[in-house]
Amino acid sequence: MSPAPVIVVTGPSGAGKGTLIAELLRRLPQLEHAVSATTREQRPGEVDGREYWFLSPEEFERRLRAGDFLEYRIYVSGKRYGTLHSELERIKKAGRVCVLELETVGAMTVKRSVPGTVTIFISASVAELERRLKERATETHTEIGERLRLAREQLEQAGEFDHVIVNDELEHAADELERVVRRELALAATIEP
Ligand code: 5GP
Repeated sequence: MSPAPVIVVTGPSGAGKGTLIAELLRRLPQLEHAVSATTREQRPGEVDGREYWFLSPEEFERRLRAGDFLEYRIYVSGKRYGTLHSELERIKKAGRVCVLELETVGAMTVKRSVPGTVTIFISASVAELERRLKERATETHTEIGERLRLAREQLEQAGEFDHVIVNDELEHAADELERVVRRELALAATIEP
């Protein structure tokens, strides 16, 4: 049996990656979210160690130098986001399947460096992304503009990923995501390494 794949969910801000992952984890309890580290501010309702490990820029830098990150990116407003080796190891050791939520460049880096990675791009129309970002209202006007500019770039890269799921209707997208992940897990279980 080959090792369980690492599932990477990617796509632009506002595509609903977080909501879809939460629903996926409810439906497939063998999956676990690998918590990234970030230097961005904690939003209301977010818990340190659940959505992210919220680090100071100094602590992030220290861990970067220590080689703790599989990949990292500087994203909106110069904030850093990084995947911790320790999270992947922890989840693997527990015999569970790792789910990562990353922007597109990080998703490609993980695909190149971790064998068996499956990338799933969550897409939505720019108008829908804009509506959701404004509704969420956790970013400033400038940050929303920056996220939408990045979103347009990212939407053009959708074809580079293993699967694309359009999230214009949540229930439908959640069903599709579950189907794709179940199929990938079944495939990995039948392929010899
Ligand atoms: P947000 O600030 O909305 O939580 O996240 C901004 C973007 O950073 C999202 O597209 C999210 O998927 C991405 N992201 C979160 N953690 C990581 C990470 O560890 N590495 C990379 N490359 N992107 C990340």
